[in-house]
Formats: sequence, C-alpha cells, structure tokens
Amino acid sequence: MDPLPDPALVVLVGAAGSGKSTWATRHYAAPEIVSSDALRAVVGSGPADLDASSEAFALLDQIVSGRTRRGLTTVIDTLGLDRDRRLRYLARARETGLPAVAVVFAIEDRLCRQRNSARDRPVPAPVLTTQLKAARATLDLVAEEGWDRVVVVDQGVAEVTIATPASTRPEPAAPGAGPELILQLSRFPWGEDPQGWLTAIARRADEIGLAGIALMDHLIQIPQVGRAWDPIPEPWVTLGALAGLGTRLRLGTLVSPVTFRPAGVTAKAAATLDVLSGGRAFLGLGAGWWDREHAAFGLPFPPAGDRLDRLESTIETCRALWYSGTKAYVGERVSLPETTCYPRPAGALPIIVGGTGQRRTLQIAARRADGCNLPSADSERLDQLLSVLRRHCAEVGRDPATLSVTVLDLPVVGVDRADVARRVERLRGRTSAAAFAARHHAGTADTHRRRYADLADRGVSTVFLAPADLTGPDDLDRLAPLVPR
Ligand code: GDP
Ligand code: MG
Repeated sequence: MDPLPDPALVVLVGAAGSGKSTWATRHYAAPEIVSSDALRAVVGSGPADLDASSEAFALLDQIVSGRTRRGLTTVIDTLGLDRDRRLRYLARARETGLPAVAVVFAIEDRLCRQRNSARDRPVPAPVLTTQLKAARATLDLVAEEGWDRVVVVDQGVAEVTIATPASTRPEPAAPGAGPELILQLSRFPWGEDPQGWLTAIARRADEIGLAGIALMDHLIQIPQVGRAWDPIPEPWVTLGALAGLGTRLRLGTLVSPVTFRPAGVTAKAAATLDVLSGGRAFLGLGAGWWDREHAAFGLPFPPAGDRLDRLESTIETCRALWYSGTKAYVGERVSLPETTCYPRPAGALPIIVGGTGQRRTLQIAARRADGCNLPSADSERLDQLLSVLRRHCAEVGRDPATLSVTVLDLPVVGVDRADVARRVERLRGRTSAAAFAARHHAGTADTHRRRYADLADRGVSTVFLAPADLTGPDDLDRLAPLVPR
C-alpha cells in the first residue's frame, strides 16, 4: 500500500471496539492523536462519561484547529460516524492545505461485539448495533466525500506506512539509482581537535561511499548556519589538509565567492589542490552575496552586476591559466600577457557555478561552466530553474546534457518517524515545525532515497548533501543508506 501522506489530517471512522485507538497509537505519536474518549476523561470522570461529551468535543475542535493551523499531523479519534462533523474536518484539511485521510474500521460485527463486551464499561448492545450499521453505511459515504485517501481496516491492525513529506511516491527506488552524493561541510564543531575532526569526517565519508567533500567558503560563519564566532576555516588550506588523507574523495568549494580572491589566485589554488589530490579537485564559484564579511575583511563588495562580470572573468581566467602552454591570452573579458601557471591541474578540473539568478547567473553557467548548482528545497522552483537553464543552453547552442546539474540539499535524516520529529523540533529555531520539515524534506533515509532517485530522473547528477545536524563522523552513518550502490 502507498504510504499515507504526512503531515495529514487523519479521521478515524468505526464503531466502539473496532480498534481505532489501538491503530492510532500503533502508528502515530500520542500528541498527534486527539481522542474524544481521552478528553472526556480530562473534563469528566472517565472516557465513558457521556455528560462530558460537549465539553470534550469543544476541546477536541480547539485542538484540531490549533494543530492543523500549524500544519501538524492530527489524528481524530472519535466514532467518526457523524457526517456533518466528518465533513467539517475534511473542510478544515482543505482550509489548511493538509491532505485528508479517512480510515474506516470495518471488522466483523462479532469481533467488535466481543471486544466491546470485554471492556470495563461496554457500550450497551443496542447502541453498538446502531453504530455497526452506521459504520457500514459510512464506508460507502466516505468513498464519495472527496478524501485524498481512504484506508479500510477490515481485520486486525492494518499495517500502513506513513510517508514523510517528500515521499508520497509509491515505487521504491531501484538499487543503484540516484545521483552521486558529496558531503558539503558548512559547520565545524571540531572542539579542541580541528585536524582530528576533519580527518575522522573525511575517513567516514569515504568509507560509507560518499563521493567527495565540498567546503563552504565564507570569511565569517553565515547566520543561516551558525553564530558569527563559530569557526569557518579557509577552504583551500583545509582542502589541502584533506587531500593528504589517502581517500578517494573529490574535494572542492561550494561555492567560492569571486570577490574574495583575485581570479588568478583562485586558479592557482584549485590547480594546486588538483595536483596534490591526484585530480580530485573541483571549483565552485559564485558571485558572493554577504556584504558584512567583505567589509570585515577589508574587501570591496561591488554591485551585483559587477560581481557577475567578475564571475565570468574568473571562469575565463581559470580556463586560460589551466590551458596548456604559456601563450598570451586574449579573450572576451580577460587578456593576459602570458599564461604561465604551474603546476597545471592534473586533469579536467570542473567548474560549478552556484546561484539562482535567472537572467545572468544561469546564463553564465550555461555559457561557461561544467556544472550548475541549484537549491533543492522547493521542487517546483527547481523545475523552473532547470527549464531556464535549458533555455540558456539553447540560446548559446550548448547541448544541455554537457552541463551537469547539481543541487545543494539540506536534509533532516532520522532513523524513524519519531526520530525525525525530534530532530525537526530541535533544529527548527523559530521556524514552524511543518515549514522546517518541508524545507528540509525531513524524513527517514528511505524517503530521501526516493527523493534522490526522483532528482536523478530530472537530470540531477550530484547532490551536495549538507545535513542540518552534522556534529561528528557518527552522524554520517545515518546517511549511508542514501549512497547509491
Ligand atoms: P476503539 O473503540 O475503536 O478505539 O477500539 P480500541 O482500539 O480501543 O480496541 C478495542 C479493543 O480491541 C481493545 O481491547 C484492543 O486491545 C482490542 N483490539 C484492537 N485492535 C486489535 C487487533 O488488531 N487485534 C486484537 N487482537 N485486538 C485488538
Ligand atoms: Mg477508542
């Protein structure tokens, strides 16, 4: 069965004793379940205190309204047989954009009566008879009411899997499918032992089959990632240290702002890394965006247009200096009296342009880069950027197949649904849990594997993987199941 969407509004429907509460606690966390019986016990003397019903339902409605407003999964554990109420829940799901799921419990009457009579306070037999009849009728009604999913539980506890946001795609990913994965390091909680931490991360990344390590290139830690006083090392020096570890990892920056270093110096650093690592280097380049780090380090921060010009000329300079021979170079934006740059890169050193500027950044990528890095957070936006990129390729007569598409992905990966929820709650800061989970595609390895297979289908060759909560090498083990085999 396809996984149930998550988050979702889930409405249970069934007679007393049909197994609703048991099913709910089996599949969902306690705070996600809103039960009229439980609320009767809160405002009344116990779950069977019918005098407390109206207050219990008022509370229930309030809880449903609060949780759904926040986009949180809400499981409504009531009889579910009152059509008006049921349709109100459905309307609430529509209003809040949550998928609406009805779970109808249609076990044998005999079994239901048996379970009912074994209870502390059984529902009177005639009442149960009415409920059982109503439940059968509801089965047909529900099919017509417009629920996104209807699940029928007709014996025992139906096994369902619950999807996390991105993974409502039913088919499992084919083994071996999926883009290559490169770990992007953006935070460095290395304590007292920077070299030891980096070494351990790199070794483990290599062991689990990640294809490389990319370093973020900033002069001050960016607020999206950490605090200004957190360490953020100079990437070329750091990559040099990683190059000597004897791993197979590809190494590079994602991305170096062209405003930090003169183009020729970047060309020199990348070529040196390529030689020291036996041809494993790549160079990510971007136009730069954070004025504060430029000011703090005494670097000019020209207007966007100039920075984009510089992005183009940096790529041109790199290509000129990496090309064989020492001849003078006269190009579109760059002229050099000689191109004496030794060591030259060991092989083809890929240049990846990062950024989403549709008019120029993507055009520069299409004209001059080997790869283009896009954000993965929103798949519709990704599709749109991909089509702009293809258009730019067409305009310059470039076969888009020769331009690799990479994405930066910041997943929250948990070992199970509860672990995912805990991680989201810990990491979300002031962002709502639902928004944070959606942006980071919070889910188990399985959900991410399906998503990566989907990205590969859309032409993504490489995922730069920046887990939101990487503190040490052990955290990489959670990523191991994502590696294509
Ligand atoms: P509800 O009134 O629909 O919420 O039903 P409950 O979930 O409270 O279940 C009623 C009784 O049936 C409880 O004693 C449960 O332990 C039992 N029960 C529920 N589902 C199953 C099941 O799948 N198998 C078995 N053996 N017992 C179940
Ligand atoms: Mg119950």
